[in-house]
Amino acid sequence: MSKNIEKKLPIPAQIKKEYPLSEKILTIKKDRDEQIRKIFTGEDNRFLLIIGPCSADIQESVLEYTGRLAAVQDRVGDRILLIPRIYTNKPRTTGQGYKGMLHQPDPEKRPDLLAGIIAIRQLHTRVIEETGLTSADEMLYPENYRYLDDILSYVAIGARSVEDQQHRMTVSGMDVPAGMKNPTSGDLSVMFNSVQAAQSRHNFLYRGWDVYTDGNDLAHVILRGAVNKHGQSIPNYHYEDLMLLLHMYGKRGLKNPAAIIDTNHSNSNKQYKEQIRISQEVMHSRRCNDEIREMVKGLMIESYLVGGAQKIGEGEHVYGQSITDPCLGWEDSEQLIYQIYESLRQ
Ligand code: PEP
Ligand code: MN
Repeated sequence: MSKNIEKKLPIPAQIKKEYPLSEKILTIKKDRDEQIRKIFTGEDNRFLLIIGPCSADIQESVLEYTGRLAAVQDRVGDRILLIPRIYTNKPRTTGQGYKGMLHQPDPEKRPDLLAGIIAIRQLHTRVIEETGLTSADEMLYPENYRYLDDILSYVAIGARSVEDQQHRMTVSGMDVPAGMKNPTSGDLSVMFNSVQAAQSRHNFLYRGWDVYTDGNDLAHVILRGAVNKHGQSIPNYHYEDLMLLLHMYGKRGLKNPAAIIDTNHSNSNKQYKEQIRISQEVMHSRRCNDEIREMVKGLMIESYLVGGAQKIGEGEHVYGQSITDPCLGWEDSEQLIYQIYESLRQ
């Protein structure tokens, strides 16, 4: 193993010192975190949309995207709070392919982890600086979380990580909402166990430290659909699924019961345009049942400048089109946000 070690990277404290957050950013972050907390505790009944590309691949196009989101936020702010999805670490089903900006700050070039750490911190910082919006990312690697822990307003634990103890315990020390996805098998008890673990106190070993955590009272569930033994997608966003979720929350006695519905992945079977219909269906279910309305706090939508997806390194690069999962294009996304806004009229 040792012959494969290339170089020691700076620890998070060093990177934070070199790339500090301005007073302006700290103020925005504190204010947005308070607003988002109130949505999860039920003190604020605005709806959350965690929206953006499957992977934040190129700074320029991601910033153009978030700039457009900021303009929409200004128009829908009384009913909707937008959280840009800036995913800089990508889980890969077979371990192959693009692993995100952390690994490849330029998706067409070879991995460069130091440049990647700096790039993801800069991107998250620039989004706040330029748009006033704070973002969501996936915590794929708990040991890397501290490179971003002062910037993120929302953290997701992916379907392939949700059963892992280190992920759960790391979430238990966070002070921002963390969404635990259902595993790809669809077993909802695994997802609830994860929330329970994340809401509890722990003492564990983290980056060489003996740490104590208080538990994260904003840990909650994300439904992303499942895959059966034949590899077919099994959606879990329908009314009956939400009723089951309510029932399971009722039995667990967890704090701040909340759910986010991921409209892509195995819910859409990656038919990205279906995200429009799925969003509408979830909004309809919320209108049918007050308890569902209280529990379903928002949607997670995969969206980028250009609809669909492209294969990296094959042909001409299409600016603003996903290189991982297919995303809803900008025009459809903007229209969908306004539709959701209208449907929230009291
Ligand atoms: C994603 O959000 O792009 C993702 C990979 O999600 P999941 O963990 O649900 O597969
Ligand atoms: Mn995706």
